[in-house]
Amino acid sequence: MYLKNGKYYFSGQVPATQIAERYGTPVYVYEADLIERQYRRLQDAFSIPNARIYYACKANTNLQILKLLRSWGAGLDCVSIQEVQLGILAGFQPSDILFTPNCVSLAEYEMAHEIGTLINIDNISILEQFSQRFPGDKVCIRINPHIMAGGNSKISTGHIDSKFGISIHQLPHVLRVVESTGIRISGLHMHTGSDILDVEVFLNACDILFGVAASFPDLEYIDFGSGFKVPYKEDDVSTDVEEFGREISSRFQAFCASYGRDLTLMFEPGKFLVSESGTFLVRTNVIKTTVSTVFAGVDSGLNHLIRPMFYNAWHSIDNISNPEGRSRIYTIVGYICETDTFAVDRKLSEIHEGDILAFHNAGAYCFSMASNYNSRFRPAEVLIYQGKDYLIRRRETLEDILALQETDVLSLSPADHS
Ligand SMILES: *Cc1c(COP(=O)(O)O)cnc(C)c1O
Repeated sequence: MYLKNGKYYFSGQVPATQIAERYGTPVYVYEADLIERQYRRLQDAFSIPNARIYYACKANTNLQILKLLRSWGAGLDCVSIQEVQLGILAGFQPSDILFTPNCVSLAEYEMAHEIGTLINIDNISILEQFSQRFPGDKVCIRINPHIMAGGNSKISTGHIDSKFGISIHQLPHVLRVVESTGIRISGLHMHTGSDILDVEVFLNACDILFGVAASFPDLEYIDFGSGFKVPYKEDDVSTDVEEFGREISSRFQAFCASYGRDLTLMFEPGKFLVSESGTFLVRTNVIKTTVSTVFAGVDSGLNHLIRPMFYNAWHSIDNISNPEGRSRIYTIVGYICETDTFAVDRKLSEIHEGDILAFHNAGAYCFSMASNYNSRFRPAEVLIYQGKDYLIRRRETLEDILALQETDVLSLSPADHS
């Protein structure tokens, strides 16, 4: 979404305020052309033919977004069997899906095995059980190389007492399992966190994985996870994917030459592909001036967009109803009965009650983390595709909230447990 002649437009042609009027607020809006731009940009950054992008769909599981990414050639990275099932519904072949959960039961791995996805195992206990259950099968293992990526511990997964992955120091144990069961390790995986700022740090972790690879003769792919950072603020550092793609491609090529076979290079970005495509539109319910602060209270809260409260994430905000008003300082808060502050002391163009505010970078980990807290409905989702707008998820209703509950409790007789 951007400003053109004093008005905000999606994909350069659909007026943003018109979407808020047509579908109501709060509403998530995704621009398909921006997802495609990011997908192609990353794909083009790799100079080798056997590089493949698996979309980490926990960022945004709307079926239409999954279908778009499939149509462009992406694979899918799933962290639960339910995400796998959504992927199948969106038309992905099981062999184009990598199932990479953590701390799930053997039964869930068995379901993925039954469906036929690639399987990534992140602990030795399950590796042993899976290998005994399916001797001779192929699996990928998730390695924790213990590099620290970024400074936010909520999204760092590489440190020594992280719950993620099999420690690189436990490789001898993995090799014993391989030897005793005949399981074939066809993939190596790492995902060090969501905040790679320094390409060098990441490349060091890649070298660690290349070192591990020497112990496994059956490899078909190496998956370097994600870590691609996108700018949330104007002066934010983002991953230089072109430079990164060049570096990793040449290192991967050199590795394959020494390994003796061409393997597939895999990445599984979530945020990079969908974050910037999303805008969250909310309506200002009230301007509340206290002795110290001017609050703008909106028709949403941590139930719809929890990143600012959960990760201290910064989303830029515009008043799209009054793009060229004079600037004033506001603290933007939600309507939930918790402290749900979206933004503190932001300079925005003057807000009147009823004005529509737009949160940028709302395509990743926004709707997918939404809840019904305070018995509020989850928002609608709209896709802007080739200049037209499509409702891709309707707003919830009270019927949706009631659908799973027994509404007639008082007339029920208690269950007989005898
Ligand atoms: C969440 C996740 C990703 C995607 O991370 P982003 O920061 O959104 O790119 C990739 N791989 C795994 C295993 C994940 O859990």
